[in-house]
Amino acid sequence: MKTYDSEYNIVRGFYMRSLSFFKKHSSFLIVVTVFLIILAVFRTGTLFFGYDVFLGSNYLGTVSGRAETEASLAVINDSLDIPIKENLNFFPKIVIRGGLTPAAEVSKQIKLVSGQMHEGTGFTVDGETLFAVKESSDMLRLIDEYTAPYKTPYTTSAVLEGNITYEDDVFPNKLFVTYSEASQILTEKAFNVMTSENITETEIIERSTEQIEDSTLYIGDVKVKSEGTDGKKEVTKIILKRNGEVISEESVSEKTIALPVARIEEVGTLALSGTGSGIFTRPVSGSITSGFGKRWGKMHKGTDFAGETGESVKAADSGTVKFAGNDESFGNFIIIDHKNGYETYYAHLSDIYVSDGEKVKSGQVIGAVGSTGNSTGPHLHFEIRKNNEAENPMNYISK
Ligand SMILES: [Zn+2]
Repeated sequence: MKTYDSEYNIVRGFYMRSLSFFKKHSSFLIVVTVFLIILAVFRTGTLFFGYDVFLGSNYLGTVSGRAETEASLAVINDSLDIPIKENLNFFPKIVIRGGLTPAAEVSKQIKLVSGQMHEGTGFTVDGETLFAVKESSDMLRLIDEYTAPYKTPYTTSAVLEGNITYEDDVFPNKLFVTYSEASQILTEKAFNVMTSENITETEIIERSTEQIEDSTLYIGDVKVKSEGTDGKKEVTKIILKRNGEVISEESVSEKTIALPVARIEEVGTLALSGTGSGIFTRPVSGSITSGFGKRWGKMHKGTDFAGETGESVKAADSGTVKFAGNDESFGNFIIIDHKNGYETYYAHLSDIYVSDGEKVKSGQVIGAVGSTGNSTGPHLHFEIRKNNEAENPMNYISK
């Protein structure tokens, strides 16, 4: 217990001595603390010295120094017809950070105090204010009405051409005009109206053609395997116009709605041999009007088939054109050499579609039925010759 008592007494003694020190010097410590705090806030800029400034009795705002406000008043006075008579009055004060009035606001207040300027919306071209109206909504309506004739349902913006600004500020009283006066000024100055239109149109994406080689088709033959389809896209354009006339057009986006499907063609790669197979087919479909053999005491070396002028005449077998031209009695006629001992003759044609030396295939259209040469009406005179001897064609082809 004794040991405990003595330790307790030591602690208690220290505590009592400290307490009496603070009691004795308390007012001094408070002064020092407050001074340090004030020093700290001024050094950090939280508080500083400034002024409440008045023009005559009109409060302009709170400023940090005199010079700027004095200069501002001088500039404004220069622009006014009658300089402001009132003087600036500065009242020092401690300002809390953020408590200053912006210079532009002070300048605006000076102008308002002058009574020669008031607030409104100005129409300024190249830095020079042409006129002002009281309400910014009036300025918007004015521009809206002036540009209206050039607007379409696609117009996204309509502005006047030039370096024109509309700003809310304080303007000299003499610049203020009524709505109709403002409208008249715009008309007299004939400002150009620049519009921007956003148009979305549907355009066709043309299908491509793909060709596939087909060895079962002759060279030059094309067979459409599938027609394909055109695609569609939505194209969005921005069109700039001056007074309604297009000055530029630019595509800004494209959206494919339907992809095109290519047309597919089969293209023949099989070369014509110019040689016959020995099997003959009918050159026309018409009926036989005169057969092979003796006719009125004269040898008829072929078969005559009925046909209309212009009707297609087809090669009876593959071969090479030996002759394509005109003869007094055969008229326009063609000889095909089948390179196997056989030749076929096609006479009285109205038209010839092949030429000497051309290789043709069986069934190919080589000419048209006619009545040229020694003929009494449109028909095809057809001959098959073996080693230059005329044979009865009907022994080779179907009736
Ligand atoms: Zn004949």
